[in-house]
Amino acid sequence: MNISRDYHILVLEDEPATQAMLASLMEGEGFRVTTAASGAQAQEAVAQTRFDLVLLDLNLPDDDGLYIARELRAKSDVGIIMLTSRKEDIDRVIGLEMGADDYVTKPFFPRELVARVKNLLRRLNQPRATRRADGAGGSELRRFNGWEMDMAKRTLLNAEGLDVSLTRAEFDLLTALVNSAGRVLSREQLLDAIGSQFWTPVDRTIDVLVSRLRRKMEADPKSPTMIQTSHGYGYKFAPAVTVG
Ligand code: CA
Repeated sequence: MNISRDYHILVLEDEPATQAMLASLMEGEGFRVTTAASGAQAQEAVAQTRFDLVLLDLNLPDDDGLYIARELRAKSDVGIIMLTSRKEDIDRVIGLEMGADDYVTKPFFPRELVARVKNLLRRLNQPRATRRADGAGGSELRRFNGWEMDMAKRTLLNAEGLDVSLTRAEFDLLTALVNSAGRVLSREQLLDAIGSQFWTPVDRTIDVLVSRLRRKMEADPKSPTMIQTSHGYGYKFAPAVTVG
């Protein structure tokens, strides 16, 4: 199965040989890979790129891996696999509950690490494939890029935890996009989602709503990273969305 496509992994490891091994292992699986050798380099990389998963060495020269995991988790839903040198570290790490999703002790079998990476990516991306907002028993929460959307309360919190006020139509449109994250929806499908009864090919309702959402949500509304345009067709919600 072609799970590797489009996934971008950050390898944060200060030991050169291990870093090179991890990078080539992940590249061999078809993932895009960026490497960092310190907490500072990692912060720089994270500021520029949205990663799907981080392989994070616990023992780094500058920052503590635990601190970095906490920082990453506060800002995003990125998958985090912590690499530790000793078994005892794992107990300490889990005890502190710093937000890593999984832990691997060095030395590890490459195949085992690859399997864990793929499992985590599958888990993180399950919601957009199998869950829906109106699904029975489904959680009401959607999380993406550190944002949180509550379908029951109809609230949207940004990555700083601040409430972003949306109109009914804006919220309904965002709901449709988020619930189909990663897939392009046509203007007609989106109009349907906001309960609009009439549609003509020149209808600009959706485009206007999207531009309003972008002004409220995008760091730079002119080059949006969340709600992306599929020219002549519709829109796609790009971030990975987790449910619950
Ligand atoms: Ca190290």
